[in-house]
Amino acid sequence: MSSALDDFGGDIIEPGAAEYGSASRSLLATGTPARILRPKSTGDVRAGVRYAAEAGLVLSVRGGGHSFPGFGTNDGGVVIDLAGLADVEVLDGHVVRIGGGATWGQVATALAPHGLAISSGDTKSVGVGGLTLTGGIGWKVRKYGLALDNVAGAEVVTADGDLVYASATEHPDLFWAIRGGGGNFGIVTAFDFVAHPTTDVFFGRIAFPAAEVATVLRGWADHLRTAPEELTSIASFANPFAGGPEAPIEIQVAFDGDDEATAAAAIDPIRRLGTVVADDVTRRPYAETLVDGMIPPPGIQLVTRSAFVDEDAVTDALGILAEVGTSSGSPVIAVRSVGGAVARVPADATAYAHRRAELMVATTTAGPKPALDAARPALDALWGRLAPHVSGLYANFLSSATEQDVAGIYPPATYERLAAVKRRYDPTNLFARNHNVRP
Ligand SMILES: Cc1cc2nc3c(=O)[nH]c(=O)nc-3n(C[C@H](O)[C@H](O)[C@H](O)COP(=O)(O)OP(=O)(O)OC[C@H]3O[C@@H](n4cnc5c(N)ncnc54)[C@H](O)[C@@H]3O)c2cc1C
Repeated sequence: MSSALDDFGGDIIEPGAAEYGSASRSLLATGTPARILRPKSTGDVRAGVRYAAEAGLVLSVRGGGHSFPGFGTNDGGVVIDLAGLADVEVLDGHVVRIGGGATWGQVATALAPHGLAISSGDTKSVGVGGLTLTGGIGWKVRKYGLALDNVAGAEVVTADGDLVYASATEHPDLFWAIRGGGGNFGIVTAFDFVAHPTTDVFFGRIAFPAAEVATVLRGWADHLRTAPEELTSIASFANPFAGGPEAPIEIQVAFDGDDEATAAAAIDPIRRLGTVVADDVTRRPYAETLVDGMIPPPGIQLVTRSAFVDEDAVTDALGILAEVGTSSGSPVIAVRSVGGAVARVPADATAYAHRRAELMVATTTAGPKPALDAARPALDALWGRLAPHVSGLYANFLSSATEQDVAGIYPPATYERLAAVKRRYDPTNLFARNHNVRP
């Protein structure tokens, strides 16, 4: 066994061990790694990184394990699974220190008794690490920005096994890069977030008939442009379990505040967009808005693609989506409102480059591989039509990791700056299982 592993005090799982089957896979991918390391401390993470570098093995870093391309596992390499580093500690001044392997469900539960929350995503089991390092679009995004906009600093183990603190004043280049550049620069063992006070929220779904998709979508996007930033929303349609092209269009709303009249003033214009066929918006604790992630049954794969839409392209993009979503063979379509606080952050303040986007569109196709292969031409055709109307790709909702994807995530100036930071902190590209920035 390598000398670096002599300093490793966590669990080591190898083929043949009882837990190997579950430990080797992430939520959406199977793998056959040679070793899964489960650190119990920052020192263990440092030893694990040194071991992977010395052994020259492919390294996967796993936070919550929800990556769509399956970055959290590999064949024949090492996985560093951070699930043991999941403490959530409230420090002074609403600063919350969160272990790099925590999930957003753990965070929401730990912060609720303090009346605090952090802008994150919509699912409990998603990891703080993966979601934050590439963005983080959740139910408070228009009011408090992306998850990464709320990071004040992070403890990072770099490729040589060193531990550094990245913030506005310490290693500012690294701090810039980890807010959008994904797992390219090291392993974050702890994030320091600035949390915000939270109350109950108004949350639920308002549904309209499929025939009204085009008008509802347009009216929804127009309303969100000027709605109070407390309101965040997702429009989804073409759900195969609810009728496919005939499925109602569902507008999920989250109003960040517990005053019923103010919430109604923000949400009611959506109710007036068409014929409401269901409405379950109620007041509830913020932590209860997060849902459990579903584990796909064996043999079922997910293909997700996403892109941003700026204001001038909204009409064309939504027109295409409404047409395709009400035709047979459509993927599930979800359109998330962004803007608000996200757009107020200067474009070069973080490595997340899509500040001008008003919407984020994601499509999902699920099924056994032959069904996905059969669905592919229609999916390609949809994205081909959308291409002239999108302004970039959202790394967190992409099943693929091609050069073209990386170019869509990082515009040239962002990529060049990221590559310079990569050369400084990971010159050998040890952290390569991601939407990779080459040193
Ligand atoms: C059911 C589901 C719901 C989702 N909902 C949302 C949502 O509401 N909003 C949204 O924005 N996204 C959402 N996503 C997308 C999600 O943000 C990405 O899949 C993200 O990569 C998941 O992070 P993870 O830590 O769980 O995944 P992992 O697979 O563990 O991590 C992905 C990659 O991130 C890096 N990484 C993770 N943790 C660390 C760390 N501590 N240090 C360094 N690198 C690290 C590594 O490169 C790793 O391979 C959702 C995904 C799923 C499957």
